Amino acid sequence: MDHAPPPPGILIAIVGPSGVGKSSLCGHLLEHSDNLQLSISFTTRDPRGNEQDGVDYWFVDEDAFMAKVARGEFIEFARVHGNLYGTAIDVVGEARGQGIDLLFDIDYQGLAQLKAAFPDAVGVMVVPPSMDALEERLRGRCTDPDEVIASRLAFARTELSQVDAFDYVVINDDFERAYRDIVSIYRAQRLTLLRQRAFVVDTLLS
Ligand code: 5GP
Repeated sequence: MDHAPPPPGILIAIVGPSGVGKSSLCGHLLEHSDNLQLSISFTTRDPRGNEQDGVDYWFVDEDAFMAKVARGEFIEFARVHGNLYGTAIDVVGEARGQGIDLLFDIDYQGLAQLKAAFPDAVGVMVVPPSMDALEERLRGRCTDPDEVIASRLAFARTELSQVDAFDYVVINDDFERAYRDIVSIYRAQRLTLLRQRAFVVDTLLS
């Protein structure tokens, strides 16, 4: 049997409306996974709280961002809530080459572009148990004025209407269960034929 080259790293995108809890799910998954790294995006928005350049995002101004677009340095980019966000091609290339799995915290527009470049990228949509629950969570954060909450809810409907572009849907009505669902999805990617074949062919049958 043929010896295949080592399989490329897994690309997994966690997408969902703001307030749905995807940052906590992503943070927890990163903390508890050995071979998984966050794909650090470029953004034109200002840092919030104790966000750090090169840790949470690469913070750049609009001119620098557009120069990167012109040079074709992004695998995907999109405008979200008025700011630009993008994923650098070399971040993905390096991780793929080293067999490192990448977690993307991007929006649905970014996922469509990522899948166009890497059809094996896995898209997970995290959804709230109800629209009322989502509104409650957005209000509970107490950071946004009413009109911002209304616009985030309207945008949430746009995002949810893209459900057919996803491979998996996780309902976040209970953090622990939603987290276990995401771990199961990630784990299942590790067990695909593409990633397990070498063990059978090169180890068991050699
Ligand atoms: P925030 O500003 O709250 O960190 O992120 C706002 C939205 O932008 C979130 O839905 C987040 O997933 C999305 N986002 C963050 N980075 C990227 C990226 O590189 N590309 C795309 N398309 N969306 C992103």
